[in-house]
Amino acid sequence: MFAHIQAAPADPILGLNDAYKNETNPNKINLGVGVYKDEQGNTPILQSVKQAEERLLTEELTKSYLSIEGTDNYRQSVQTLLFGENHPIINKKLAHTAHTPGGTGALRVAAEFIKKHLPEATIWVSNPTWANHQAIFQSVGLEVGSYAYYDASSKSLDFESLLASLSQIPEGDIVLFHGCCHNPTGIDPTKEQWQQLAKLCGKQGFLPLFDFAYQGFGVGLEEDAQGLRTFAEQVPEMLIASSFSKNFGLYNERVGALTIVCETADNADAAFTQIKRAARTNYSNPPAHGAAIVAEILSNKALRSLWEMELQSMRTRIHEMRGLFVSTLRSKGVEQDFSFISKQQGMFSFSGLNPEQVSQLRKQFGIYIVGSGRINVAGMTHENMDPLCSAIAEILTQS
Ligand code: PLP
Repeated sequence: MFAHIQAAPADPILGLNDAYKNETNPNKINLGVGVYKDEQGNTPILQSVKQAEERLLTEELTKSYLSIEGTDNYRQSVQTLLFGENHPIINKKLAHTAHTPGGTGALRVAAEFIKKHLPEATIWVSNPTWANHQAIFQSVGLEVGSYAYYDASSKSLDFESLLASLSQIPEGDIVLFHGCCHNPTGIDPTKEQWQQLAKLCGKQGFLPLFDFAYQGFGVGLEEDAQGLRTFAEQVPEMLIASSFSKNFGLYNERVGALTIVCETADNADAAFTQIKRAARTNYSNPPAHGAAIVAEILSNKALRSLWEMELQSMRTRIHEMRGLFVSTLRSKGVEQDFSFISKQQGMFSFSGLNPEQVSQLRKQFGIYIVGSGRINVAGMTHENMDPLCSAIAEILTQS
């Protein structure tokens, strides 16, 4: 029964990581998969996480199942991170949050919830977007469309086309926004642009779904939430998929959350039972450890300030690498303007390198970049910056 099954194509990003592991070039550099790396090229466990784990180890009393939605402590902490202390949405109990296995788990539960309760809705994602978005929504049978976002020639947000695209989206459809640090372009709307988008959303009547995977990696924890908080002021309903893989460095603990905001507390109670149902038939109940770490850090003053410092140092290192990349390329005589990279946010940028240049970088120098030209800036260090920029300079002169 299995003999007819054809192999699936390699995942465009995780497949690249496997190829990198097998690369024999001793000077290889990985700017592919989206994990944070420190100056030594490692993906460290945060001190705040280690300290929280020590406490959990002594205090934990059981490994019994969590409830379908996870612990109250975690779920409340997530809402405070999203909306801020004492937000009316929290006080009026208009939102419910379920702990999910990572941001991907949150998107999957959201997809199933949408397919079951809004079966006619099309979900619209930015062009371009994170490679897994389309696949997640298509896997439950949802129609996926794309809206204009990026202007490749100016390497910036094409806001006019974005507004024009969204003006065509009918009431009852769903629009996915990246909360901050847009993956893959690194370009987010400004505060004023978020306001215009939220206003348009209210006028058109589509439902916003925020994918919030990088809170704290852009400008700061509060600032990075301004897009979704602006929407929360202007539209009564939304979905939010949170991931704590990056900002807590908890990649393999699979810790995320799906939050639903409704117009009334009764609506929220009812809709949340359906979210729980989707979780129950998917993975039954979430894995405890990662969320216990997040809840411990967020509810303890000392741990929280240590975490905020560590988050800030990750953010600052990425910003520094962005600047250094631009200046090092310039010092190598590269005439093409890469200054846009120092203006973008988060781990990713679209480098503008074409698939042929990406392939040559890999063949000639063992430098791994996603085929679209997306680079993970966090893969850069003071040590690899010079060989990296020399290689890019060389490739640009060849083409
Ligand atoms: N959404 C975006 C935009 C991402 O970049 C990622 C991870 O790369 C995710 C969601 C998924 O996060 P997680 O690893 O927590 O499933």
